[in-house]
Amino acid sequence: MTDCVFCRIVARQTAADIEYEDEHVMAFKDIYPKAPVHVLIVPKRHIASIADLTDTDIDVIGRCFLAARRLGEMKGFAEKGYRISVNTGPDGGQVVYHVHFHFTAGRARGHGA
Ligand code: AMP
Ligand code: ZN
Repeated sequence: MTDCVFCRIVARQTAADIEYEDEHVMAFKDIYPKAPVHVLIVPKRHIASIADLTDTDIDVIGRCFLAARRLGEMKGFAEKGYRISVNTGPDGGQVVYHVHFHFTAGRARGHGA
């Protein structure tokens, strides 16, 4: 899976600013932040897209959300809040085909997408 940039980050073959890591999940700063705080949460195991999820992935996807909760607490946003978003497929704006959750915070958002 060496052609996947996020697998390379997980394997520490590509540098990243790691914010959180456990056995199953890694979180690192987005290289082109679109918010004052912009972290990507990824399962360590390669899953290309939400469109490829199977029952086998239920646990690790839940762990990604637990990592989001931890990031919110670590960064002081548990009360103020944050946004978690996932782009899926070409029309969804997905560029990197290794499932990742965008954790963004530090700017108030309105309702809607
Ligand atoms: P998406 O459009 O949801 O596939 O988003 C991919 C995200 O990955 C973008 O926000 C990029 O800025 C980010 N990105 C791409 N390469 C890297 C990298 N090497 N380290 C950190 N973030 C990256
Ligand atoms: Zn990958």
